[in-house]
Order: sequence, then C-alpha cells, then structure tokens
Amino acid sequence: MRVEDGSGETLHLHDTLIAATHNIIVEGFLQEISPRAVTRIAENIYAQTESLQAEVLRVRNPQIACAKGCAWCCTSYVSVTTLEVVFLTAFIRANLSPEEVETLKERTAQSAERRRGLDSNAQEALRLFCPLLKQNGCSVYAARPLMCRGWTSKDADICRMNVEQPGETPIPVPYYRLFKEIAASVRVGVQSGIDQTPLQNDDLELVSALNVALNTRDIVERWLAGEQVFPDEIIIKE
Ligand code: SF4
Repeated sequence: MRVEDGSGETLHLHDTLIAATHNIIVEGFLQEISPRAVTRIAENIYAQTESLQAEVLRVRNPQIACAKGCAWCCTSYVSVTTLEVVFLTAFIRANLSPEEVETLKERTAQSAERRRGLDSNAQEALRLFCPLLKQNGCSVYAARPLMCRGWTSKDADICRMNVEQPGETPIPVPYYRLFKEIAASVRVGVQSGIDQTPLQNDDLELVSALNVALNTRDIVERWLAGEQVFPDEIIIKE
C-alpha cells in the first residue's frame, strides 16, 4: 500500500486496508488458534497501521500539534474490538510487574465504576484520564488500541481547554482526517476478520472491557475457546 504524493488520492485505500486486515486475521487463526497467534496477529495489524501512518507523515507532512507528553486526548471515550482488549491484556500481563498490574486493576475498576450505565457522551463528559496513562505517556504504547492510533489534533489548546475548562459539550477538535480513516478502516477489517471465526466479536468501551479482562482468569484462552468473556452489559449497542 502506498500513499501518493501531491494531489493524487490514494486509490481504494479504505477497501485495501479492510481486505488486508481481514486476511491477516483469517490466515493467522487458520494457522493456529492460540495466545501466540493473538500476539502475532495484533502485532502484524498494528505494524501495518504504523507503517502506513508513517508514510502519510513522510509524504504529506500534515501540520499536527500532537507531541510526546501531551495527553489531553487520553480523556476521550475509546471503543475497542475484542481482539484489541484481549491482546492488550496479554501485553499487560507480559510487560507489567504483578504490583503494577494490581495498581492498574484498582485504577481501572474505579474508572469503570464511574462510567457504569452512562452512554458514550456522558462518559466523555466525565473527562477521566485513561487508567493506562502514566506520567503523561501511554504505559501500553505498543499495544494501544486503533482508536488511539487514529487520533490527531491540529490545536492542542482546544484539547487542553476541553479538559481544564469543560463546557457542556466539548469544542470540536480539528484533526487530520487521513490518520483517523486509516485506523477506522483497519478496525473494520478486524471486525470483518473476527466475524469469520467463532470468537466473540463486539464493540466495547476500553476501560469497562479492560476491567473485565483484568479480573477474568485465563481471558485469552477462554476467548479463544469461543466463550463470551465480555458480558452483555458492557457491549456497546449505540
Ligand atoms: S490506551 Fe494509551 S493512548 Fe489510549 S487513551 Fe489510554 S493512555 Fe491514552
């Protein structure tokens, strides 16, 4: 996949990304249904997303205000696929110490409790920082969800104001559309690929799903066995 320079539009980028992602999942799980396959598939999908976004930056050089240490957007409502949460949980268990996992579980449970029963707009209005945020950086950067990978801002002051001086509704943040479209297309491909398997395939809110995942023993193995590991009450139905 290439991003064309100048005014030329990328041909069929959306369809190509959906198909490529779909194939990564279907072929990956055809080889084996195992925790190792989850990691390999998720890393492959994220690598594909990153390399395309890096090419977009190189070719189009968009004016983006995002910078290391700026984390206002980590108060946003994040929806995730089941594959992403399962991989994220495996990543957390593999990379954080048992003490760090316990602290994260507590922070996640508190945030999930405040979100319970609220729709996406009401959750967003809480302006709660993501429990995975640590010293203004994402503590799971390599495993962060697609939605986080699609975010950009052309004006960090608006992001800050939306958190520090929240009005009734957030001020719309100007963003770089292509970045979001890449992440959104990959996400459609994830849903489409998982649909070809017997695995639970739902839209979930990040914090509530992570709360369930961190408190479910053998979540990866149980998801791979076809169990509905994420209960109805946290499935996004909007
Ligand atoms: S997962 Fe990481 S990037 Fe996404 S909202 Fe949480 S801290 Fe921010």
